[in-house]
Amino acid sequence: MSAITNFSTFNLNKQLLNAVSDLGFEAPTEIQQKAIPVIMGGQHVIGIAQTGTGKTAAYMLPLLMKVKYAQGKEPRAVILGPTKELVVQLAEHARNFAKYTDLRIVAIYGGVGVKAHADAISNGVDILVATPGRFMEIYLKGDLPVKQIKTLVLDEADRMMDMGFMPQLRKIFEVIPSKRQNLLFSATFGERVERLSQDFLEFPVRIEVTPPATASVRVSQELYQVPNIKTKINLLLHLLEDKESFNRVIIFTRTKEVANNIYKFLERKEIGPTKVIHSNKGQNTRINAMYEFKDGGIRILVSTDVSARGIDVNEVSHVINFDVPIVYDDYVHRIGRTGRAYNEGKAITFVTPVEEYHIQKIEKLIREKIPVKSLPGAVEIEETSPEEKKDMAREIDWQKKKEDPSFQGAFHERKKKK
Ligand code: AMP
Repeated sequence: MSAITNFSTFNLNKQLLNAVSDLGFEAPTEIQQKAIPVIMGGQHVIGIAQTGTGKTAAYMLPLLMKVKYAQGKEPRAVILGPTKELVVQLAEHARNFAKYTDLRIVAIYGGVGVKAHADAISNGVDILVATPGRFMEIYLKGDLPVKQIKTLVLDEADRMMDMGFMPQLRKIFEVIPSKRQNLLFSATFGERVERLSQDFLEFPVRIEVTPPATASVRVSQELYQVPNIKTKINLLLHLLEDKESFNRVIIFTRTKEVANNIYKFLERKEIGPTKVIHSNKGQNTRINAMYEFKDGGIRILVSTDVSARGIDVNEVSHVINFDVPIVYDDYVHRIGRTGRAYNEGKAITFVTPVEEYHIQKIEKLIREKIPVKSLPGAVEIEETSPEEKKDMAREIDWQKKKEDPSFQGAFHERKKKK
């Protein structure tokens, strides 16, 4: 297929083309080139594309073209996504593209009163963007008419599976009209997404822009080997001192506790401005933090994996993995936060000896070796506390046992030798 270099090649109407040009999009990205004509042709599509590839516009533009203008009061297209943050982002994308039309786009998600959402729907909606839980909640109250739904999009399907949304999705498939166009987008294509797609899509066209779970080419990756958590903190501080290049940074942690601790620490050191988002933060706080980060009001965002879904910020200079994710797909999702669309980004991962095991698994998944950098001389290397040493030894034993069930553990070995 020869490359499509211009949006006007697609059969989009003037309103959409003008909005695309207002957004500053010049050439369509690869997923857009491949998916837009197929979706406009009415086919079912499975799109395997990470965030940052332009996949949202790849389905949103044909969807807006199909729905075209405000009509009746009931939604004709539904987009489902795993988190509030993503849903809010997607609605914003849709509104940007629909700015020269009269289309009504409504976003619904958990954590806020049901009534406001039910009212918004009853005022009339053309495109509904929803989390699966909130969709069913409002449907079951009788406030969500579903008879006119002709297009269903599942975005970040892999994440919806990870978050256990399958039962809600099944219920949704049951209650909406079966004659409809189905589009499924996912960053990875594991077993569960494959099963979902078999249940959900008949004879889909599969479009893939990077092999599943391959790190985005625009992200340069590096890895620092550090002996313990205290040294990680020293390294973090050292890197963040460079305010010019580290100008918009997301720091990922596996747990809320670590996220909170890092946030408090950076605040104390007056390194920020910094905000932290995780599932214990109210939804408004999370959304506000995200917008502030997007607008450049804060330099550093500390986040756990789940909360980071849907963060759509261009020009994130660095993603720092303070720890190595043990859900390996999360590595791909985390680093996909930088190097979005046409920007370059850098992903830096801190690895203690006990995390080497997980890094090896990740390298296998992404089919590449992450280059190791030596620690900058200015970073003070701390002693590992006896407690951390013991935890690490125990964990490494567990890892070895997992790989080789006959492994007895270092502790046993020592005892035997005596
Ligand atoms: P997505 O992969 O859909 O999350 O998109 C990532 C970012 O790329 C978003 O900020 C989009 O606004 C931007 N983007 C999408 N398509 C294009 C394009 N054709 N040209 C420039 N930027 C784009």
